[in-house]
Amino acid sequence: MQEVRADRSEAVSMRPFFTEEFVHLHGPGDHEARSFLAPGRINLIGEHIDYNGGLVMPAAINLGIAAACRPRSDHLVRLHSSDDPLAVEIDLDRPIEPDPARGWGNYPAGVLHELLLQGVDLRGTDVLFTTTLPQGAGLSSSAAMGVLTAFSFLALAEAPTSDLKAIALLCQKAENQFVGVNCGIMDQFAVALGKEDCALLLNCESHDYHYVPVAMGAHACVIMNTSRQRRLADSKYNKRRAECNAVLRLLETDAPRNGLVHASWSDVLSHVSDPVLRRRAHHVISEQARVKRASRVLAAGDLAAFGRLLTESHASLRDDYEVTGSHLDAIVGAALQAPGCLGARMTGAGFGGCAIALVERAEISNFTASVRSAYLAATGLEPAFYVTHAADGVHETTGEG
Ligand code: ADP
Ligand code: MG
Repeated sequence: MQEVRADRSEAVSMRPFFTEEFVHLHGPGDHEARSFLAPGRINLIGEHIDYNGGLVMPAAINLGIAAACRPRSDHLVRLHSSDDPLAVEIDLDRPIEPDPARGWGNYPAGVLHELLLQGVDLRGTDVLFTTTLPQGAGLSSSAAMGVLTAFSFLALAEAPTSDLKAIALLCQKAENQFVGVNCGIMDQFAVALGKEDCALLLNCESHDYHYVPVAMGAHACVIMNTSRQRRLADSKYNKRRAECNAVLRLLETDAPRNGLVHASWSDVLSHVSDPVLRRRAHHVISEQARVKRASRVLAAGDLAAFGRLLTESHASLRDDYEVTGSHLDAIVGAALQAPGCLGARMTGAGFGGCAIALVERAEISNFTASVRSAYLAATGLEPAFYVTHAADGVHETTGEG
């Protein structure tokens, strides 16, 4: 069965789990519970650009993770997830170290570790996470989990939560150093600072950003999950980072630069002879130009031009950067043949996970039916679809309907 959900009418609200599942898992307690929500993200355009110091254009989405949090009278943190049977307990009075046996709990544990290092007076708390965000599908459930933990625990400690940039940076550090995933800053930024109906134009070098209104009108962004877990993603991701650094070293014999996005193609041609390294650089330089064009055409409401840029971005990631893989190529190929599609590309690191397509609203069911049958025939896998829109970043939902 194909899945079409998360349209505007369906907010990521998970009220019922609060009372029933929470009390079942944690028992009755003396303190009031509070609830928080962090969205996942898509990257509209600017892929493999964050670690090259450039401009990216992610948006938070209306799929996310919710946390119900109830303070305790001791210094224990007890974490449950509706999506993972492993219960996690952390004693705030003892050093928090990475522990493979803690499984998914290392994501929140790393954030608690960083908050304690910053001197935040954390409270013992019972927590239940529940989610509408697929895990490991390239929609940044890991960043959502980290940012949600930081925001919730800061709020419960009555510490300021308004510096969302600082929260994003703290969570990136936790994912890099505690969990050991070498991610850039884009995911945490989008999850923390997303805004309804806006994309974020983020400079990954300076961390300056501004919002680009996304007026979709008669169109919608459809997320297409290949249902293929990302394979080789970590090793290939690290390899691409190393290749970009190798190009930069060759260019730096001439003039030092902060990131590969600042190089010109003529510089690359005169300093880099290796054909693979040239193609990697070509993706980075051309993708950066596409991000700049995309922000202009989006601001002008030219969705046809935006769609073409998405498709060009996918071709560059497939041919020059070689991070798409057969499943993402199959689903994007199917999308481009399907009714109502203005453009499509992979989103996230690649090698499986999700792609996005810009689709006429009136054609969405024809579109998903067509993509499903072509993709199923090509791969034997059942895809999932989420009709999505740009949503707010992390926030408290206590008291919301
Ligand atoms: P992505 O960020 O693309 O979803 P990652 O591999 O970076 O994929 O992060 C997925 C990991 O994040 C999961 O394996 C799990 O450890 C953790 N995680 C995400 N969401 C949840 C959740 N709702 N419950 C428990 N763990 C989660
Ligand atoms: Mg992740």
